[in-house]
Amino acid sequence: MTAETAPAYCDVSLPVPLDRPFTYALPETLRHRVTAGCRLLVPFGSRKLAGVVLRTHSEAPQTPVRDALRLLDGAPALSDEMLALGRWIADYYCAPLGEVLKTMAPLAGGLRRGKTYSLTDKGRDALRQLTLVIDAGPDPQVEIMKALEFRNASAPYLAKKHEQAPRLLAALLKKGFVEVVDVEAERDPFRAPSAKLRVELTPGAAPPEGKLKKAERELLAYLALHPGSHNLKEVEDSVRNAGEAARSLARRGALTLRTELSPVSTAHARPPHVLNFHQQTAFNEIRAAIEQKQFQAFLLHGVTGSGKTEVYLNAIEAALAAGRSALLLVPEIALTPAVAGQFFSRFGDRVAILHSAFGDAERAEQWRRIRSGEAGVVVGTRSGVFAPVANLGLIVVDEEHDQSYKQEETPRYNGRDVAIVRAQKAGACVVLGSATPSMETRYNVERGKYRLLTLPERIEQRPMPAVELIDMRMEFLETRKQATFSRRLLEAIDARLQCGDQTMLLLNRRGFSSFVACRSCGERIECVNCSVTLTYHRRDQRLLCHYCGYAERVPSKCPKCHSEHIYFLGTGSERVEDELHRHFPKARIARMDRDTVTGKRHYETILSGFRNGDFDILVGTQMIAKGHDIPSVTLVGVVSADVGLGMPDFRAAERTFQLLTQVAGRAGRGDRPGQVLVQTINPDHYAIRFSAAQDYALFYEKELNFRRLMRYPPFSSLANVLVRSASQEEAMRLSADLGALLTPPPEQLKILGPAEAPVPRLKNEFRYQVLIKAAGRKALKDALAAIRRFALDRKWPATALVIDVDPLTLL
Ligand code: ADP
Ligand code: ZN
Ligand code: ZN
Repeated sequence: MTAETAPAYCDVSLPVPLDRPFTYALPETLRHRVTAGCRLLVPFGSRKLAGVVLRTHSEAPQTPVRDALRLLDGAPALSDEMLALGRWIADYYCAPLGEVLKTMAPLAGGLRRGKTYSLTDKGRDALRQLTLVIDAGPDPQVEIMKALEFRNASAPYLAKKHEQAPRLLAALLKKGFVEVVDVEAERDPFRAPSAKLRVELTPGAAPPEGKLKKAERELLAYLALHPGSHNLKEVEDSVRNAGEAARSLARRGALTLRTELSPVSTAHARPPHVLNFHQQTAFNEIRAAIEQKQFQAFLLHGVTGSGKTEVYLNAIEAALAAGRSALLLVPEIALTPAVAGQFFSRFGDRVAILHSAFGDAERAEQWRRIRSGEAGVVVGTRSGVFAPVANLGLIVVDEEHDQSYKQEETPRYNGRDVAIVRAQKAGACVVLGSATPSMETRYNVERGKYRLLTLPERIEQRPMPAVELIDMRMEFLETRKQATFSRRLLEAIDARLQCGDQTMLLLNRRGFSSFVACRSCGERIECVNCSVTLTYHRRDQRLLCHYCGYAERVPSKCPKCHSEHIYFLGTGSERVEDELHRHFPKARIARMDRDTVTGKRHYETILSGFRNGDFDILVGTQMIAKGHDIPSVTLVGVVSADVGLGMPDFRAAERTFQLLTQVAGRAGRGDRPGQVLVQTINPDHYAIRFSAAQDYALFYEKELNFRRLMRYPPFSSLANVLVRSASQEEAMRLSADLGALLTPPPEQLKILGPAEAPVPRLKNEFRYQVLIKAAGRKALKDALAAIRRFALDRKWPATALVIDVDPLTLL
């Protein structure tokens, strides 16, 4: 191709609310290199933005256009297949294509070259403390730390957050709250932090010449005694100054330093099991489908402890054997080193891990390995569904009912549903696995869209745990005491402590007391930014908002009537732990909830401590219910099964059923049978009754009738349209305009609202919502498109309109 015939223009999709491509001229130097799917840096107003090229062409635009600046990738970041998937997501979820493509190819690429700042563990702790203490206005240092809480950021980025950023960063660096990470250097072993490095003796290398320092000698001796590769940070705990010594020895070739790709733990590695009859039957069907090279979706419905993972592992192996690659999605919190370890021990170097907590450099490295075909097995959380695997043969979605597959910001996609669409386009198989499938998924089986595979029994025919409901109203009548624990539950815990078995206790509500009220006037203390009550956290001696993080001191007097009769109501997990300590002073108790689990490794630390028997009792919120397999847990207690039932959400019953069934499933996974005690004041509620009976079929039938009657999904398509503004007047006006637009309702639609959202004020914004129930997808899409056009035409502020298609929560 000559310069004349190479396309001189390209259409670029940019992450801006305006939902259309923008045309740019391609300078000579770029013409031959830019193709669809490449990321390109372009000028946009006074900014520079990274966008994705949708196509190149030679159609000179009517009006002059600006030049593209720079190509960000050597090869297209998104294949044609992924671009098509992006278009589907934009269309289905009513999101701007540019935002979707940015989510799919999230690498910072050339944009954030050089230094970035990252929060240290110490900084994280401090941030928690500071956000609790500071109730007098915003603190600039805290703002910077907050900006770094979930991602690393560059100085220019931080400067946009706060004009004093350079000075503040210097102060934070000095305190050790923040550290500099060199993005480029992360791949240069000699400069990466020790925690990210693995060290081992270079096989066959002669001892280095010249005199060795003490630390160097000790390190060599240590590695000789402990063959294999070690995390450098861990070695530093045993050998003084090992970090420096390792780098120096590595330069001389005596040692090999590699960047730690992923949190690997092979401690739980084990040989493959021989599949039992049900596993084998399920696997045979999946294998046959993979070999057919056609799209096919399965629901693998297996009771807790039925060995679903082993079926996944075999299915993945079958995909690899057929020369194709495989993708496994797991819920956010479930991607622990232990889980990753299972896959490493089975597939070795062929596994790539994609975790949302990974930094850019680590993610880039994993992407490179996937794209080059080096890694044919990808294990990832929600966004892993966009992994650039070629020749996809299988996608497994574990715990498909899990809420973390839904992204709660634009684009609000559900990773499970995107997996189905991706597999359809690729002619691949999908396996959705769960012990408590979502109503939608199970109904798709009924409609013939998915094929059902079942694992009806636990491994080795272990019994399902016996579940017993404890009616707390009776307990109160009999004891005349409002107690957290029933006598029956206390006895059962005591029995476990006597014989050395372990107990898990669930209370799906964190904090100490769920609200604080005044006895004289009845006033409940609410957040200043949100219309929700504050939760008392005793360890921090603060009242905390669980929605926005606002904190204040516990008042000694009622802010309204000045009475001193303040009291605390409702029990949270912190209080459960506290009361347990009083009942069982000798018991070793760990607690796991969002207050105790801060870093990404923290969760695994508590869990492996419990698994190793360092604790007798693990107390926690829903975090403890997910997929753990801990054989010596023989008692699971649910402190209050009623917590989620009162939520103003049509999924309240489904969620309660899932949570209770999952947590009950943690008991009796070893040789000894398990017991489950569920305390409730609603023992007759079907979600509680059927979870106690662990009868999914009965629950499904009952719930499906309710959904059919009320025209809720799966019998309708739902979208939640939220209008928000810092000004109540504006929020009301916009939502009224929206209401007018939808009156009379378009055909096939039922419109609920506009009305105040269940949480009418959140993070200082007033919120109104319109719930749209549609008989068909097409009608829903048309209505949402009309709403978006309306907001654009009326020049609504960019953040005022939020459209959530297939919402999982209506709060
Ligand atoms: P699920 O995810 O269905 O709750 P898991 O996959 O965690 O169940 O399996 C439960 C336990 O059974 C695990 O410890 C696993 O190693 C073991 N297991 C799985 N399949 C077999 C088998 N065929 N024979 C023996 N043990 C098995
Ligand atoms: Zn009062
Ligand atoms: Zn708040």
